[in-house]
Amino acid sequence: MATEKSAWEIAVQQFNIAADRLGLDDGMRQVLGTCKRELTVNFPVKMSGNVIKVFTGYRVHHNVARGPAKGGIRYHQDVTLDEVKALAMWMTWKCAVVGIPYGGGKGGVIVDPKPLKPRELENLTRRYATEISILMGPERDIPAPDVNTNAQTMAWIMDTVSMHRGYTVPAVITGKPVALGGSLGRNEATARGVSFVVKRAAAERKLKLDGATVVVQGYGNAGSIVARLLSEFGCKVIAVSDSKGGIVNKNGLDPVAVLKHKEATKSVVGYASADNISNAELLELPCDILVPAALEKVITATNANKIQAKIVAEAANGPTTPEADRILYDKGIFLIPDVLANAGGVTVSYFEWVQDIQAFFWTEAEINGRLERIMNESFDAVYALSKKHKVDMRTAAYMLAVGRVAEATRLRGIYP
Ligand code: NAD
Repeated sequence: MATEKSAWEIAVQQFNIAADRLGLDDGMRQVLGTCKRELTVNFPVKMSGNVIKVFTGYRVHHNVARGPAKGGIRYHQDVTLDEVKALAMWMTWKCAVVGIPYGGGKGGVIVDPKPLKPRELENLTRRYATEISILMGPERDIPAPDVNTNAQTMAWIMDTVSMHRGYTVPAVITGKPVALGGSLGRNEATARGVSFVVKRAAAERKLKLDGATVVVQGYGNAGSIVARLLSEFGCKVIAVSDSKGGIVNKNGLDPVAVLKHKEATKSVVGYASADNISNAELLELPCDILVPAALEKVITATNANKIQAKIVAEAANGPTTPEADRILYDKGIFLIPDVLANAGGVTVSYFEWVQDIQAFFWTEAEINGRLERIMNESFDAVYALSKKHKVDMRTAAYMLAVGRVAEATRLRGIYP
C-alpha cells in the first residue's frame, strides 16, 4: 500500500539523511535539494480520425554541476511533475555514485501508451520531443528510455532533433537501436548491472547463488532480463509479476519461456505450470533475492516487516520508502539501493554517448567488461562507506554521491 508521502518528498528525505551525515551547510542543502529547471509542456497531438488531443509532459533538470543532464523518459498515466522531479534527483545521485560525468534529469508524459496506435504514439513522441528540444542536446541534456518507452521511441526522438538541426545528431539520446548509433549491450545493461551487484552482495552475505531463490516484481526491460541473468548464475526464479498480477512456482520458472508468454499474451499471468499470486503477496514470499523492477513505493512501513528476502536489489527507481528502509536494515536485510543497483543502464548510456561523439564503436565484450568494473568498484566503495559509518547501503550511496556533487558545486562556485 502506498504511503502518503510523494516521491519527491521521499527523495528530499533521503537526501537530508545524507546531508545531515555529511554536515552540509544550509546554502549547499538548498542548492542540492532543489531542481534547477522544471519544464511543463501542454501539446496537441493528431490522433486517428483527425481527432486532436492535448497531452501534458515534463522535462526536469535536477542538477548539472558534474555534466549534462541525463535521465529517461517515462510514459505513464500516473506521471506527475512531483514524480519526475524525484526521478531527476535520483539520476543526479546515480551518475555521481558510479562516477560518470553527468547531472540528473528526467522526463515524462501523462499517457497510457498501451491503447495508442503506432502512428499516434509516433506523433505524440515527435511533438513531445519538439516541445522539450529547447533543453535537449548532446552537451546539455541526453534522454534515454524508461517505463513504457523503448529503442523505437528513442529513434523517433533522435530523428526529430536531427530534422530540426538539419543533420544527424546521434549523441542527443541513448538507448537507440544499434543501427542508429546505439550501443551493444545497452538493452541488457540495467539488468546486467543489477546482476553484478547481486553477485557482490551475495558474496558478502555468504549466499551461494547456485540454487538461490529469486522473486522479481515487474517483467519489463529491467525485470525480465534480471530474471534471465540471475537464472544463468544458477539462481531459481520462483515468482514474477507485471501490472496485471503475478505467477509463482516454488520449483522454478523458466524466465525465457515466461517472457515469450508475456510477449504473446501481454502478461505473465496465465503462464502454464504456475499459480497466480497478487503483486502484494509476491513481495512477501520467502526467497533469497527480491528484485523490485516496476514502480515506486511498493515496500513501505506497512509491508516491510513481512519481507522475507535476504537481499533486496532495487532494479526499479524508488521502490522502498525511508520508513521501510529502516525496518529492512533492522531486520538485517541487505538492500542494494536503486542509485547503485540499477546504475548499469545509465553507465552503458554513457558508453553509448561516448561512442557516438567519437563515432567509434566498441565490442560487446569491451562494454560488458567496462560495466562490470564500474559496478564492482561502485559497490565496493558504497559497501566500505556503509561499514565505516555503520549506515545502510542507501545512506552510504547517498553520502558518496551527495559528497561528489557538493564538491563539484563548491569548486565551480556560485555564479556571478
Ligand atoms: P518497462 O516498461 O519495460 O517494464 C515495467 C514493468 O513493470 C512491466 O512489466 C509492467 O507491467 C510492470 N508494472 C507496471 N506497474 C506495475 C505494478 N503496479 N505492479 C507490478 N508490476 C507493474 O520498464 P523498465 O524500463 O523495465 O523500468 C522498470 C523500472 O526500472 C522503473 O522503475 C525504471 O525507472 C527502472 N529503471 C529502468 C532502467 C532502464 O534502462 N530501462 C534503468 C534504470 C532504472
